[in-house]
Amino acid sequence: MAAFDEPAFDAHERVVFCHDAATGLKAIIAIHSTALGPAAGGCRLWSYATDDEALHDVLRLSQGMSYKNAMAGLAFGGGKAVIIKTPDFKGTDALFERFGDFVEELGGDYITAEDVGVSVAIMETIAHRTHFVSGLPPKGGHAGGDPSPKTAFGVFKGIEAAAKFKLGRDDLSGLTVAVQGVGNVGYYLCEFLAKAGAKLIVADIDAGRVKRAREDFGATAVGIDEILEQKADILAPCALGAILTATTIPKLKVSIVAGGANNQLETNEDGKRLADAGILYAPDYVINGGGIINVASEYFDDMDNAQVLEKVAEIGPRLTGIFEKSAASGKPTNEIADAMARAIIAAAR
Ligand code: NAD
Repeated sequence: MAAFDEPAFDAHERVVFCHDAATGLKAIIAIHSTALGPAAGGCRLWSYATDDEALHDVLRLSQGMSYKNAMAGLAFGGGKAVIIKTPDFKGTDALFERFGDFVEELGGDYITAEDVGVSVAIMETIAHRTHFVSGLPPKGGHAGGDPSPKTAFGVFKGIEAAAKFKLGRDDLSGLTVAVQGVGNVGYYLCEFLAKAGAKLIVADIDAGRVKRAREDFGATAVGIDEILEQKADILAPCALGAILTATTIPKLKVSIVAGGANNQLETNEDGKRLADAGILYAPDYVINGGGIINVASEYFDDMDNAQVLEKVAEIGPRLTGIFEKSAASGKPTNEIADAMARAIIAAAR
């Protein structure tokens, strides 16, 4: 494992490898930048083929959080954690508490929250040992808890903005959206889309989740190998990352890619591939910032639910600004967003 040479290393401030033999905890905490504030980003629980793969994932996610937090206008730097689901993994309270110890030892430089595989209940367990946790159940009138409904709301506002820009549509009624992954974010997104009159095509590796989307929203189900090739107006990736590649992009039959998953592009060049194919891409860390806005409001205790929704809705006009800059400059939308995020972070340094 060559951490400093990892393509995703990108000047990370700190990378912490956490191990606890008693509980079997193996985790990596990556702090990309604290220039704008404490490095905030969720904790993912996932099984990886190799430790290198886990490192690559956490570094890419962490850099993405720096950009996401900068673009959302938050006083947060960027970080992320992965807890590695080893073959003999036991998700005991003791393991999550040990993870909490490691977060606490960082003294507030890293703030954790939910990501794929990590529930609110797990966050509550982690919080036994550290203050530097968000995504806990809401208290009083303040926003909090599972960030995924807010993420989905932001994605929905981003899809509206993309449909207006690319298709000249004032609403989504009658448009077809292919949703890859109907877990937390994907399910709530389907709910917003169905209410707006969109037709849904869904796929998930979890048959129960597919069934729920079919029953609740009348979605059409297709196989996980078919979802990226559906003829639709919009593709909304809401599962895992690196799904937009040199191989998959030529097969897409949509005008817009706009979804909640992190790190949708396998490489930066895939942003150009999408642009060259005439597909409007909503940069993932801009469109999926709703959850972290919710997390920030909980951590700083500075906004009620209505104010959070207002701030999340700003994702729509923010994306329109990126689309316009991209159209005016001929540069892909991901490059426009990266340059904007880097400029915000550099100014804070
Ligand atoms: P989740 O685990 O609840 O949902 C992910 C879903 O994708 C699951 O139902 C899973 O079965 C499915 N899936 C996995 N591989 C798949 C495949 N190959 N094809 C189809 N479906 C597949 O996670 P989530 O919280 O909904 O997050 C989804 C994505 O959004 C992740 O990339 C996450 O990093 C990102 N994200 C989440 C939030 C949030 O608030 N939860 C915020 C920002 C970004």
